[in-house]
Amino acid sequence: MPRALITGITGQDGRHLAGLLVGKGYDVHGMVRGQNNPKIQMVQDETPELEIIEGDLQDLSSLIAVVEQVQPDEVYNLGAVSFVALSFRQPELTADISGAGVLRLLEAIRVVGGSDGNPIRFYQASSSEMFGKVRQTPQNETTPFHPRSPYGTAKVFGHYTTLNYRESYGLHASSGILFNHTGPKRGLEFVSRKVSNAVARIKLGLQDILTLGYLDSSRDWGYAGDYVEAMWRMLQQDEPGDYVVATGQTHTIRELLDVAFGAVGIDDWGQHVRTDRRFLRPAEVDVLIGDASKARNQLGWEPTLDFQTLIKVMVDHDLELEARKAGDR
Ligand code: NAP
Repeated sequence: MPRALITGITGQDGRHLAGLLVGKGYDVHGMVRGQNNPKIQMVQDETPELEIIEGDLQDLSSLIAVVEQVQPDEVYNLGAVSFVALSFRQPELTADISGAGVLRLLEAIRVVGGSDGNPIRFYQASSSEMFGKVRQTPQNETTPFHPRSPYGTAKVFGHYTTLNYRESYGLHASSGILFNHTGPKRGLEFVSRKVSNAVARIKLGLQDILTLGYLDSSRDWGYAGDYVEAMWRMLQQDEPGDYVVATGQTHTIRELLDVAFGAVGIDDWGQHVRTDRRFLRPAEVDVLIGDASKARNQLGWEPTLDFQTLIKVMVDHDLELEARKAGDR
């Protein structure tokens, strides 16, 4: 039975990946931080086979202990400060967790090594935010980076550190340069879920106004369930590598609003939406749109959900969630 260790198990991707790997017959261990982390119950209810282990990307000794104890065949590093807006408010914390945390985990893997002479395979959650002020469109694995946030700069450090451990120590270490992906498990702070949840609440009469930043930002959004499949496929390759994972289609926040409000029969969403400068980033990224040809050709990976279906699934999920919460009150 292959054994996997996932950091960031309480996050959107960790939850999807745990389910995927258990379904493939893995023994899955999820690392959680903090004392009595309130999300443990949620992930265990969702994936009862999951083993929880305590550790923190800010603490090397905890990572060494985790790798020693779990003896994983595959490590997926999904833990991070992942919200760009927070990274501007807490840049040093972001650099330490999302950047230096990658180095610490790679060091733990290098020092402990694999069991029975089997080298540990490593996945790093890199991001399209590394492209920032883009140099070419669409972006692929050779597009130069120009990050525009503390999150983006931390991810560039993690990305090159992964590459460096591959080249210096021969580690099977891969980076997935993932474009935005979302779904019903996305945190409520991220714009796609903020919109789907607010639209559900507005439809149910629980909220009237949704306040957002820049409505003309454009992103390449895919479904998180599809993107964790790409992570797993990267670690099944004979050779490690870097892969862009994206749908290749971009949509503005206005289009997101059209689809989300349209799903509940509200066509004139202008009366429900306000913009506020407080939600603007100090530096915006350009139009992000990914070219996932390498992932398609080498991994045989394809997205399964289109943008319209994805947003509708999220709105339907939030309608049910908010109606249940209102009923419980
Ligand atoms: P997420 O929902 O924000 O989850 C982040 C996870 O990191 C949480 O489980 C969090 O744990 C954990 N974490 C935070 N600080 C930690 C620390 N000091 N030690 C250990 N774990 C810590 O993010 P996601 O959407 O699942 O994304 C997964 C990864 O992919 C992240 O690295 C993200 O930056 C990257 N990525 C995401 C996207 C996207 O669109 N979703 C795109 C490109 C790259 P707590 O619950 O304890 O806070």
